[in-house]
Formats: sequence, C-alpha cells, structure tokens
Amino acid sequence: MTKILPIDGHSLPLAAKIIKNGGAVAFPTETVYGLGADAFNGEAVANIFKIKGRPNDNPLIVHVHKDYDINRIVKDIPGYAVKLAEKFLPGPLTMVYKSRGLVSDAVSCGLDTLAVRIPSHEGAQRFLKYLDIPIAAPSANISKHVSTTTALHVYADLNGKIPLILDGGSCSGGIESTVLDCTGDIPVVLRSGLITREMVEETVGACGEYVFKEGGVARSPGMKYGHYMPKCRTALFKSVDKDKALKLYDEESEKGVEVCILCGGGAAKTLGGRKCLDLGDTPEAMAANLYAMLRKAEEICGLMIAIAPEGRGGVMTGVMNRLTKACKSKYER
Ligand code: AMP
Ligand code: MG
Repeated sequence: MTKILPIDGHSLPLAAKIIKNGGAVAFPTETVYGLGADAFNGEAVANIFKIKGRPNDNPLIVHVHKDYDINRIVKDIPGYAVKLAEKFLPGPLTMVYKSRGLVSDAVSCGLDTLAVRIPSHEGAQRFLKYLDIPIAAPSANISKHVSTTTALHVYADLNGKIPLILDGGSCSGGIESTVLDCTGDIPVVLRSGLITREMVEETVGACGEYVFKEGGVARSPGMKYGHYMPKCRTALFKSVDKDKALKLYDEESEKGVEVCILCGGGAAKTLGGRKCLDLGDTPEAMAANLYAMLRKAEEICGLMIAIAPEGRGGVMTGVMNRLTKACKSKYER
C-alpha cells in the first residue's frame, strides 16, 4: 500500500528513511510530481527505471536544494549558465553540465553529462534540504503515460509500487522543466518548458534549440520515446481544421463512442454544445491544466479530439510539444 502524506515533521523523516534504504518517494515540484531516489545509489536509481518501465537509455534529472553547491557534482559551468541560474533558479529550468562522475552512472545512463535542477516548490525544497543529497527523479508516472500534477494522479499510476507520496497540492506550472544544454558555447534548449528560449535569449544574448528528427541522434535521449499519452484514442487537429474535428466528433458519437474535445484559447465557446475539456485562455493556464485534462479525457471518453490552440512561441512551444506527443501514438490522422 502506498501512503499519501502532507510534507511535515512526520512525513519527512519517513521519506528520508525510505530514500536512505534505497527506496523511492514521490514528491511535488512546481512543474510535475517527481519520483525520487538517492542519486549516489545505483541500485536505487535502477529501481526507479523498473518502477516506471522507463527505457534504460533515458537519463534522469538530479534535483538539489537551493543552497546545495552544484560544483560538487558538475564541472565546467560556463558564464552564461551562471547568469541564467541567477535569474531563473530556483525554478523550472534544468541545466545539463559535464558531470564529475560522482553520482551513480545509472542517473545519466552512461553519458558524461548530468542534468541538474533546483525546483522552487516549497515542499520540494523542504524534502531536498532534509535529505541534503542529490535526488535523481523522473516524472512520477508510468513511462509513456501522462505526467502527474497531483498526489492522486501519482497514486493512480504507482499505488502499490512505492511506499510514499508526499502531497504538495496541484503543481502550478504543469509541464516539465525546460532542459537546457550548458556544455557548449551557447545554451541549447533540448526540451521546451516554462522558461522559454526567448527568455534565455533575452538574458544571455543567444540560445539554440535542438529539434529531434525521427531516426536521428537524440541529444536528449528522452526525445525519441512516446510520452504523455492518455489511454483513450486521440486525434489532433490544427485550429483551422476545426470543422473537420467537429465532423469526426459527430460521426464517432453516432457510432456510440464517448467523444470529447480538448481545446483552449476560447475555442470551447464555439463547439455547439459538444462535450469539451477547456485548457483555459492563456499559455500558462494551458500548461497548468494540460495533464489533468488528458487524465480526465482517458477517464471519460473513448476518443479525445484535440484542437490545437492558436499562438506559437514562448510557453506555447512547450504546450504544443506535449500535446503533439500526447496525441501521437493511438490514433493518427
Ligand atoms: P523526465 O525525467 O521524464 O522529466 O525526463 C528528463 C528529460 O531530461 C529527458 O528528456 C532526458 O532525456 C533529459 N536528460 C536528462 N539527463 C540528460 C543529459 N545528461 N543530457 C541530455 N538530456 C538529459
Ligand atoms: Mg517524464
């Protein structure tokens, strides 16, 4: 049985005991819930991959509290990274550096780099400070399934597989951290998120973006795998193809399929009363609501028809990255 406990003087010693014994604990962050283990303990890290069913070449992010000296675990931190850290950390930004090779090899799956994150969530900070060691943590969901933004979502995926979920309420950010490669002359976005490429560019003058092409080399190994997928069938339409989306809705409904439309940016009002999950009006709201809505969709329908919200760049880059992947596998059009 998996316990869900608030983060306090009772649960923190319990969490520490589990982690020190090589176990895994789920904890909240400002992005999504993480599934944490002692980054120095190879068996504990391997166990995380097993619990999630995660491919064993998809490296984990190490989480530390805000007073932890990351020079202990990584090296060659460039000047631009110092600037970015001053501006955005603690916060939803993961930075990839050359590793000192001190944390277990299992964390980075044998790469010579290490992804480091300092979450701003108060509960995450308390948990990390209490342990005072780097905690390796992927998102706390079964691999390829929708990430988790509440303790109950974590419970739905991992009940019986882990002893403890620390409950810190709903995650305010909603999509995973931006992953930024800081091993080259300029930073390069490997995964988009709430700290946008534009924000990085504005701070340090230049920022690249790595776009993974099917069959190519994945600089961030996670890029090549399916992600965020609800268990129902899905179809994704551009906003200009809304009429096609509505036609599909009607055809499938007539066949007796439970259908719902996932949309945002005010489109909910234009669907003629069809069943709808509204992501909200702003890119930030859409990011915050996306995973809860995808989990709701798999609960209530056999087919989720997503209509891509309008607007690109900024936070929408991250939202569309997740939505496109969520709709990829089951029902392509
Ligand atoms: P998740 O744990 O589900 O948030 O995924 C972590 C993401 O960070 C994945 O896309 C990984 O591929 C990426 N990542 C972790 N470590 C590294 C690294 N050393 N170099 C590049 N990408 C990394
Ligand atoms: Mg994940």
